[in-house]
Amino acid sequence: MNPILYVVVPCYNEEKVLEETTNQLKKKLDSLIKKKIISKESKVLYVNDGSKDNTWKMIEEFHKKDSKITGISLSRNRGHQNALLAGLMTAKKYAEIVISMDADLQDDIDAIDEMLEKYQEGYDIVYGARSSRKEDSLFKKTTAEAFYKFMKILGVDCVYNHADYRLTTKKVLEELEHFEEVNLFLRGMFPLIGFQSTVVYYERKKRFAGESKYSLGKMLNFAWDGITSFSIKPLRMICVLGFIILLGSIIMMIYSIIRYFTGNTVSGWASLAVSIWFIGGLQLTSIGIIGEYIGKVYKETKKRPRYIIETNLEELKNREFTKK
Ligand code: UDP
Ligand code: MG
Repeated sequence: MNPILYVVVPCYNEEKVLEETTNQLKKKLDSLIKKKIISKESKVLYVNDGSKDNTWKMIEEFHKKDSKITGISLSRNRGHQNALLAGLMTAKKYAEIVISMDADLQDDIDAIDEMLEKYQEGYDIVYGARSSRKEDSLFKKTTAEAFYKFMKILGVDCVYNHADYRLTTKKVLEELEHFEEVNLFLRGMFPLIGFQSTVVYYERKKRFAGESKYSLGKMLNFAWDGITSFSIKPLRMICVLGFIILLGSIIMMIYSIIRYFTGNTVSGWASLAVSIWFIGGLQLTSIGIIGEYIGKVYKETKKRPRYIIETNLEELKNREFTKK
């Protein structure tokens, strides 16, 4: 039996690209079904992340015309990571393999063939990684690359230049379900799950149409979540820094006592004032970072649902079947 593949695509205000994406994905699925690599029941599962434009209407239309296209709609905008998780958890119910990708055709659809080859070789997770960032702006490129390097320094196990274009098997997603964290950083969570994994490289393209939904603010937020959800190194750095400063001030104290007894009293209050400000600033930053983690603990302990599905076209269809 050929495996059922679901391609999960989160969409937030993507009316401009959806038609082209649907055509290309449909073509891809058809060719893979023809080659008997995947089952006839394979589908594209769109996740409407509370779009304010016609995205959901378009998805419903596509679904009416072709059962290969299906979708779920979230009750409101929850952000890319939550939308993706909602899609993965839904797809897991119907599929043996799930590939996640963006709606804007930046991820090369043809890399799916290679991902499936790796699946057949026995891998449970296949990460799609960008071989280059020629099409990204210099700013996006440098900040993104610096981010991956920084994460590595902080000890977060992340695949370099891998966003959320990846193939996973049902087995992996079943384990992912047990990760109950609210601050989602999926690309850091999959390496934690384990199993056999490999990387497939592809050229990242320009957005087909529309604008990036990741503003600078969202990007910084995401990076910060990635760091503070996966590494406690910043907390440890504060301890080390505090200790070094403590040592330094003890040495300074001894030095001024010696100066006092040798008759050279230290004159001037400027250095004193500067050091007070310095320590004050340092303490505030440190408390701020600690507060950041406490905030996370606070959020996690509430265990709020990470997404709410309003409509699931798959289940609507099943219900119709049982009615008949
Ligand atoms: N996205 C989403 N919810 C959001 C923001 C983005 O579902 O709140 C989706 C978006 O529709 C796209 C994917 O996440 O399919 C990646 O977003 P985008 O292409 O804007 O990010 P970039 O490629 O610029 O990092
Ligand atoms: Mg994009």
